[in-house]
Amino acid sequence: MAIAKGYAATDASQPLTPFTFERREPNDDDVVIAVQYCGVCHSDIHQARNEWGNSRYPMVPGHEVAGVVSAVGSKVTRFKVGDRVGVGCFVNSCVGCATRDLDLEQYMPGIVQTYNDVEADGTTPTYGGYSDSIVVKEGYVLSFPDNIPLDAGAPLLCAGITLYSPLRHWNAGPGKKVAILGMGGLGHMGVKLGHAMGAEITVLSQSLSKKEDGLKLGADHYYATSDADTFKKLAGSFDLIICTVGTVIDWNAYLGLLKIDGAMVVVGAPEHPVPVHAFSLIGGRKTLAGSGIGSIKETQEMLDFCGEHNIVSEIETIDIQNINAAYERVIKSDVRYRFVIDIASLAA
Ligand SMILES: [Zn+2]
Repeated sequence: MAIAKGYAATDASQPLTPFTFERREPNDDDVVIAVQYCGVCHSDIHQARNEWGNSRYPMVPGHEVAGVVSAVGSKVTRFKVGDRVGVGCFVNSCVGCATRDLDLEQYMPGIVQTYNDVEADGTTPTYGGYSDSIVVKEGYVLSFPDNIPLDAGAPLLCAGITLYSPLRHWNAGPGKKVAILGMGGLGHMGVKLGHAMGAEITVLSQSLSKKEDGLKLGADHYYATSDADTFKKLAGSFDLIICTVGTVIDWNAYLGLLKIDGAMVVVGAPEHPVPVHAFSLIGGRKTLAGSGIGSIKETQEMLDFCGEHNIVSEIETIDIQNINAAYERVIKSDVRYRFVIDIASLAA
């Protein structure tokens, strides 16, 4: 078995520290990837700190994994050594399950998460991209278009698909008014993707501090949600609102911003339940919905779309030794807009 180096959380209260472990022996249908960059997702922090109550330790987080193929199994046909590839939030799913054909495997219980999970054998832990290598079944490996750099491209694999999938599902495009609630790692991708799809994009953010960035990245309008006038001015305006924030907000107030038949789609996860009044939905036949990442097929479609439209994430690159400080900054929303670990720093 190959020895891998990485950083791991050893329990919920400790900082991440250097960790050496074995990657599984590649099978015929596996791709071995030399990881070059890995994005830092807020869910890495939730899981490293056991905030969702399902953490397994030691845990090597990271599900925005970008690198280069270093070896392939004998039955691998789509990849060869040297290809630029990515791995997103999951590395396996129900075998023979019909949802794979529907390209909805991300919603199945049989999904195997890229980290904080066990492989299909039920025992081998999965370890994520805060490490120098990863072994993944060919069917769960994604291709980066030639013009997408691996550092700024890595966050597309979670943040990008998390916004792309609902924008597509709810038909964001020309003539549609779309609001992106929250201007962080997820939200800024929604601005870029929604704009490229041709929708009219409005950012709804706590303050106007990132307004200049928002307009530069493709937003047509930018409003502060701390200003009560915003809710009066924009009442009944939007076909679609995508909520990327993980804090508790008044969903009823936002439902009031939708047109008739409008939808508010939740992709950020507040810690506590939020009450919704039935009349917020009844008046205007509105929908409150959720959406989670995307299938492998849709994730590849998103990467190809980003290639065509030259879309990457806005990033700040860090050495892995600074990961714990980066976590504190993510919690304070003090990053524009996604941290990406330069995995070469592991060798330092
Ligand atoms: Zn993520």
